[in-house]
Amino acid sequence: MSKVSVRDLPVEGRRVLVRVDYNVPLLERDGEILVADDTRIRQTIPTLEYLISRGAKIILASHLGRPKGKRKPSESLRPIAARLAQLLGKEIQFVEDCVGPQAERAAHSLAPGQILLLENTRFHPGEEANDPEFSRALARLADVYVNDAFAAAHRAHASTEGVAHWIAERGIGLLMEKELRFLGEELSNPARPFLVLLGGAKVSDKIGVVKRLLEKADVLAVGGAMAYTFLVAQGQEVGSSRVELDQVEIASDCLRKARERSVEFLLPQDHYIVETVDFSKRETSPGRYTLPGEPIPQGWKGVDIGPATVEAFRKVIGVARTVFWNGPMGIFEISSCAKGTLAIAQALAQANHAVTIVGGGDSVAALQEAGVADRITFVSTGGGASLEFLEGKQLPGLVCIPDRPS
Ligand code: ADP
Ligand code: MG
Repeated sequence: MSKVSVRDLPVEGRRVLVRVDYNVPLLERDGEILVADDTRIRQTIPTLEYLISRGAKIILASHLGRPKGKRKPSESLRPIAARLAQLLGKEIQFVEDCVGPQAERAAHSLAPGQILLLENTRFHPGEEANDPEFSRALARLADVYVNDAFAAAHRAHASTEGVAHWIAERGIGLLMEKELRFLGEELSNPARPFLVLLGGAKVSDKIGVVKRLLEKADVLAVGGAMAYTFLVAQGQEVGSSRVELDQVEIASDCLRKARERSVEFLLPQDHYIVETVDFSKRETSPGRYTLPGEPIPQGWKGVDIGPATVEAFRKVIGVARTVFWNGPMGIFEISSCAKGTLAIAQALAQANHAVTIVGGGDSVAALQEAGVADRITFVSTGGGASLEFLEGKQLPGLVCIPDRPS
């Protein structure tokens, strides 16, 4: 079911409140606060250019950080106005509150094509509480509401959900549309073979996605810490690798379901193992690779996939027509444990014949570190939101937008 899009809405000459996700990292240089990574800002440009070309009066709302309902100068959106102005080559007005008389005056005096950025919505406790009064105050700024903040769509906050109840004309932005096309349409009707590659920290975080994608995938390959719970379910020795004992039975269920559905289920055959990991110093004790099939000795833990596993995963990536990847293959924050993850990122970048889709905060960071993000078909902007969407959960930021009449 597709949602009403900004392209379906009457925006000409109207005040359009666009919820974007400008929750970007900042840095301080010579006393000035700058945007450290403007990816999220750049991703909203298509929606903004569309609205400018249609003569809309554009009002942008976003949260930044976790100010917890209080005004916190270090989490002001003002530096983002400066960066957005550079990117668009256009003046961006900024107002020091997102609701109230000052914001209303600024919104009501916009000319067609002009852009106003509001201050951090989370400076008000009403934002995260999804307070109806605060939602109404936001709604007073505009005639039309556009939600383009996919990464925040799994939260029912005032600017992502509540405000929609007070504005009749509403739709999703072009970034949100793209997310739904790739995570929704492409993955529900994938070109085959369809490979799902999962890793990361916890089975419990990802089990919903595993179950759901087991129904779609032809091949499921699991690495990262998650893999050890599955290996224990297969009765293998994993030393002191990270295992979630309360998930072992669920992992067995998944393995059985995969057999029943003839889904090929690949787990690591070899590992990079160490005795201790020091996260704060980003180092480990000296490590070594196990041989394929060799059990992990007592006192040692798996922190990356080994070369035989990389080869096996590369092989299935090489023949897949659709690949979805979420979750690093090892503790990629520590360079000695990053080889497996970076090799998988490279393999995805080389899979020219396949639609490649990557989601998850750390996975996207790994792509960037490998320098291959621009060679992936679609990199999702949603961390938690992408996973919840793939699990089949209803995202409040989407539910509040009407379906497009068929
Ligand atoms: P994403 O953000 O892409 O969804 P996750 O947050 O699920 O990914 O997982 C990333 C985390 O998993 C990283 O911090 C990484 O260090 C950790 N991780 C991956 N493999 C292992 C492992 N073998 N042992 C411990 N932690 C691991
Ligand atoms: Mg993460």
